[in-house]
Amino acid sequence: MSTLQAVRGMHDILPEDMPYWARLEQTLRDLFDAYGYSEVRLPIVEKTELFLRSIGEVTDIVEKEMYSFDDRNGESLTLRPEGTAGSVRAGIEHGLVQPQQTHKWWYSGPMFRHERPQKGRYRQFHQVGIEVFGLEGPDIDVELILLTRRLWQMLGLSTVVQLEINTLGSPESRHTFRQLLVDYFSAHRDRLDEDSLRRLERNPLRILDSKNPDLKDLIEGAPRLHDSLDDESRAHFAQLQAMLAGAGVAFVVNPHLVRGLDYYNRTVFEWKTDRLGAQAAVAAGGRYDGLVAQLGGKSVPAIGCAFGMERVVALLQDLGVAPAVAQVDVYVVLAGDAAVRVGFQLTEAWRDAVPGLRMVVNCGGGSFKAQFRRADRSHARWAVILGEDEVQKQVITLKPLREQGEQRQVAWMMVGATLKSLCG
Ligand code: AMP
Repeated sequence: MSTLQAVRGMHDILPEDMPYWARLEQTLRDLFDAYGYSEVRLPIVEKTELFLRSIGEVTDIVEKEMYSFDDRNGESLTLRPEGTAGSVRAGIEHGLVQPQQTHKWWYSGPMFRHERPQKGRYRQFHQVGIEVFGLEGPDIDVELILLTRRLWQMLGLSTVVQLEINTLGSPESRHTFRQLLVDYFSAHRDRLDEDSLRRLERNPLRILDSKNPDLKDLIEGAPRLHDSLDDESRAHFAQLQAMLAGAGVAFVVNPHLVRGLDYYNRTVFEWKTDRLGAQAAVAAGGRYDGLVAQLGGKSVPAIGCAFGMERVVALLQDLGVAPAVAQVDVYVVLAGDAAVRVGFQLTEAWRDAVPGLRMVVNCGGGSFKAQFRRADRSHARWAVILGEDEVQKQVITLKPLREQGEQRQVAWMMVGATLKSLCG
């Protein structure tokens, strides 16, 4: 019989990776608390229609990457490919997203896209995202960027990420620009690759995003959205840049940054790294002022961004930013039948006496030597030994493994107090 494997592009996160994940997740949680963002938890499955109406029908995600299926009632459902559409749906459904009200949310969890898997690009991956509803000025754009900058500082990643920003203008200015692009690329049709030809009529902005080096010159020479910008978007972008500069944030304006989802307008940004090969974006976001109304809510401006957790973890691992090894205080060695018989009674009493005590009790038997090897591998600070001798005398032997001090015997009655003074 063949052995079963995980679905291609979907990976297991194993104990050796978890310290990095735990550190990142805790840092994000602390940061969101500090900036006043509340957590929301949303379904992993939504109606397919939600994504068609939000992400846009002519995007890579909707055209070829969604995990969609009919449920038993024949309704088309989709494993969420991103978190913004569900956030907006929930905000409208619960009457939370209203004009003149501000909501600041964050969410985390797996996302699903049927992409070509490679390092840093998976079919199930994890995002932590932020959404802010009800604020239209560039100040909130700056806050999201500052929050993200602080994350890099807290994780020791500031020197390996760079911020790129752009503005996509209003839907009207995008429309004008779109036509200019179609005209320009149509005139150079013979130089376009297959992907770009497909995008030409349907989503020409995405050609600007092409990674094909043969198109670099052509794209460099393309019309610039900035030349078709409406005055308000121009002012918004100028203020954004001034405020970023005022806050000492280094950034590059990348006029070709367009993002792969249709709902964005005005400010878009990406934090990139050159440490992870082709998958350079570690976090990305932008404004989506029209989306709430588009999905049936009132007209409420909004902005969001999402962190690609696998990529941030890869950066932490790449830089050797090692999290502290999980600490074990005590490893309990139980040698002989008598010790095993009284073992749990004693160790449970010690757990009562020292709340939070990190204690591993040897299970599965083994010789003294084998148990000590396990104790060592657990990185425990102390070994507590219970053998035939100890049971008879009603004592334990306390042996320092990673601490100073002599080995000594402690009466059972005193073990709780002793562990409390050592580890409490
Ligand atoms: P997006 O929702 O496309 O704006 O992506 C936001 C962030 O999620 C990106 O900057 C990446 O860091 C991460 N990301 C997107 N797609 C994937 C994927 N297939 N695998 C791993 N990370 C991804």
